[in-house]
Amino acid sequence: MRSASAIALAISMLAVTTASAQNTQAPAPAGSAATAAPATAKCDNPNALGVSRVVEIDTTGGPGFGFEHFKAYDFLRDHEIVLTFDDGPWPGHTPAVLKALADQCTKAVFFPIGKHAGWHPEILKQVAAAGHTIGTHTWSHKDLSKLTEQEGKDEIEKGIAAVSIALGNQPVGSFFRFPALKHPPELVKYVGERNIGIFSTDMDSFDFKMRKPEQVIASVMKKLEKHGKGIILMHDFQQATAHAAPELLKKLKDAGYKVVQVVGKTPVEPKKEYVDIVLKEMGGGLETARPISSVIKTISGN
Ligand SMILES: [Zn+2]
Repeated sequence: MRSASAIALAISMLAVTTASAQNTQAPAPAGSAATAAPATAKCDNPNALGVSRVVEIDTTGGPGFGFEHFKAYDFLRDHEIVLTFDDGPWPGHTPAVLKALADQCTKAVFFPIGKHAGWHPEILKQVAAAGHTIGTHTWSHKDLSKLTEQEGKDEIEKGIAAVSIALGNQPVGSFFRFPALKHPPELVKYVGERNIGIFSTDMDSFDFKMRKPEQVIASVMKKLEKHGKGIILMHDFQQATAHAAPELLKKLKDAGYKVVQVVGKTPVEPKKEYVDIVLKEMGGGLETARPISSVIKTISGN
């Protein structure tokens, strides 16, 4: 199994380092342009959820995280959580999630879709400016297990290039999440060779199936009660999640959960040939090509 060897390599090279244990103001991590935002306005909320610690991950070899698929690294302590938001950036919804996070002085990991980043770079820049970690989630959110290996690589690399371009030609956080949490072994190996860490999840909120914010809150809180800690998968793309975020974060604080901010040690550089491809596609009137109904619909898993 090539994926097993890639993971084994990662184990020997991984370092999860606690970089900080400040309560509300996490320092901007060094070395990652996607996350090295200037310190934002200081936290005015004395009861904020905050950030309990910052862990820096050395993604050399492509370590995987999230017990649904990867068991090697149990880096969270009891009641520690990592907030992750997929499929943005999206008007209205992503800014609402950002505001909720800012009001609670806390940080998350975002896995934007490349096409969405191309359509809404100004929103993705807001995510970066707020000091959140930004990974990638492919160009167009296809199930990579249904593509050829080359098509899968193209999806991954175009996603990285698009996020980089949207952020002003910056390197990108060295984290990746496979659409629908489908992990073809040859592409797990490829991501490992790119020294990008893979994020599965400990808890899938299944928020994409929910219309009411209270359902999202109930789902997350119930799963957390069972697991006690973990990486939580949500979608800033989803309206119910955007509406749920303020109350959800309050409930997490009240229940004694502590947010761990995850940052990459070394950002990933986009490949030039894919930057050129994406620039060509984006420059060719992607705005006018935008579909009325969303291109993206999560139908299972993630
Ligand atoms: Zn997704």
